[in-house]
Amino acid sequence: MKRWRCTVCGYIHKGEEPPDKCPVCGADRSKFEALEPEVDPAAQSPEAPAEKTSAPQPHATPAAAAPTGFQKILAQAHDLMVKYHAHPISVHIPNGLLPVSVIFVFLAVIFKCEPLAVAARYNMLVVLLAMPLVIYTGYTDWKRRFGGNLTNLFTTKMVCAGIVSGLAFIVVIWSFVRPGITQGEASLLWLFMLLNLAMLAAATVAGYLGGKLIIFPGDE
Ligand code: FE
Repeated sequence: MKRWRCTVCGYIHKGEEPPDKCPVCGADRSKFEALEPEVDPAAQSPEAPAEKTSAPQPHATPAAAAPTGFQKILAQAHDLMVKYHAHPISVHIPNGLLPVSVIFVFLAVIFKCEPLAVAARYNMLVVLLAMPLVIYTGYTDWKRRFGGNLTNLFTTKMVCAGIVSGLAFIVVIWSFVRPGITQGEASLLWLFMLLNLAMLAAATVAGYLGGKLIIFPGDE
């Protein structure tokens, strides 16, 4: 049976024709390239890595006339960031702290406990400070691993990153300027909690879509 690989996300499709649309990243059929026919697994050497485990091929960057020393160093840094998964690693900072911060905000309101609100605001500050790194490594991954193809999946992830960054900025400024927000006026408090929940939802969507871009051995 023929096999086709999505050049955007690395998804492998088995069939006579490539699919109209990649079920993982949404790229259209023109983005699929034909692979060698499948080898009988029994005949394969145990050391040979399965096709599915191979990361999507990094796309060659257009050759600049003469890259400067700085450009070479930057390119090497980007290669290392992609190779050692800098984006999934950095994304764990906000993805770990954001739910904690949101939960603390709600607990601070329910139990009228100001120390939890303080903890929430410092956690959210770290989330905000981590976002430039998350966005930079994500952008590098997108350009290098996925050729900068702007499919719905990547657009959604970028919008989510923008929502998280923007709302984290608002929530941090708000909670440091008005430290008593969790014990304050109800209408403002509802808005504050709503912003926290919206941020959590955006981070969840971005994380879910990011998980779809990781192809595990044996996945179809
Ligand atoms: Fe794809």
